[in-house]
Amino acid sequence: MNPFAYRHGRLYAEGVDLAALADEVGTPCYVYSRAHIEERWHAFDEAFGGREHLVCYALKANSNLAVLEVLARLGSGFDITSVGELERVLAAGGDPTKVVFSGVGKSEPEMRRALEVGIGCFNVESASELDVLNRVAAHLGKQAPLSLRVNPDVDPMTHPYIATGLKQSKFGIDIAQAADVYRRAAGLPNIEVKGVAFHIGSRLDDVAPVVTALERVLDLAGELMDEGVALEHLDMGGGLGIRYADEQPPEPHDYVLALLGALERFGARYQSLRLMIEPGRSVVGNAGVLLTRTLYLKHGAERNFAIVDAAMNDLLRPALYDAWHDIGPVQLRTDKSSTVYDIVGPVCESGDFLGHGRALAIEEGDLLAVASAGAYAATMSSNYNARPRAPEVLVEGDRYCVVRRRETVADLLALESRLPPDP
Ligand SMILES: *Cc1c(COP(=O)(O)O)cnc(C)c1O
Repeated sequence: MNPFAYRHGRLYAEGVDLAALADEVGTPCYVYSRAHIEERWHAFDEAFGGREHLVCYALKANSNLAVLEVLARLGSGFDITSVGELERVLAAGGDPTKVVFSGVGKSEPEMRRALEVGIGCFNVESASELDVLNRVAAHLGKQAPLSLRVNPDVDPMTHPYIATGLKQSKFGIDIAQAADVYRRAAGLPNIEVKGVAFHIGSRLDDVAPVVTALERVLDLAGELMDEGVALEHLDMGGGLGIRYADEQPPEPHDYVLALLGALERFGARYQSLRLMIEPGRSVVGNAGVLLTRTLYLKHGAERNFAIVDAAMNDLLRPALYDAWHDIGPVQLRTDKSSTVYDIVGPVCESGDFLGHGRALAIEEGDLLAVASAGAYAATMSSNYNARPRAPEVLVEGDRYCVVRRRETVADLLALESRLPPDP
């Protein structure tokens, strides 16, 4: 279901008229559809059928508290990368025992807090991190639940910045070294080996590389089980892509079925493993749009620019990854033919663009909706150029709720102080 559709020439989110919403809330602003988030999460969850499993939503895609609460109420697990994200899960009413903690650089205070609240699993990414976790757990008199995140050396055929399962990547433990690290872990007094994890990258439009990674990890799991290392779960990471332009990623249901099929081929001994996945983008990406208003149209000798009130500080993906987002008018015009524009923001960088070469029938003052802005959008926003961050709005049916208010300039200044007087 696409929750964003035109009715009589006006763009709606579910039952909410976006032009009316923008008049109330102002622009730029993010708008998310609760129904879409729920539908996508359920699609993953239901695909596992009767098999024991946990869908751990990856917070870094979108960590707004209301979004997390929508998922927590469904019984979702969570994949976190920092203690800040852990506090967000707790603040949203999420269950700490359903939290997995990923990331190459967990600090000791982060480990301590995660142990105190009793998270489900640490996905450890190096031998040194294993030792530190054991020590921190010993101080607290606790057992740290552990998976190793192994790096299966598979090319996910995606953007180099979001490929994480290649040998040269900083992520995970080389699969060839993983058995040794597991043997060490099994001998540490404050570590409890729970499972094995991998995550090969993001924006995957094909399940084949994940299946290859899974097969390599299952070989390792078999080897470990032969040695008597007890494994309870298998975490297959996230990474399923969404349609930004004309990509054709598998549906969540088919993606999970492909993974279940590969598991089945490996035989009965793997059937008792509890399965986990960590989707982020594919749950929230197409649940959101960024609304922005056209400030100026500038017609140059070679190019035309639509200068809008959203910028790279609001949506970094075009500048960071050269990412393509669909951009369309919120109210369709029948009184104009279209002109090709570069859609740019007010930030003083040539990299500050939302889209290049877009044919649009617009006038100054018109609203635009930047599509697929539910993931890696608000979470990547910044205050560059001293721009207050945009508000976030959650739509449910014909109602909406501002779930993060617009920052004010006072918010921006609040953490800073003047110099003491010169002597
Ligand atoms: C980023 C990340 C995810 C989620 O990736 P998506 O592409 O958003 O699904 C899952 N697991 C780990 C370890 C990650 O770093």
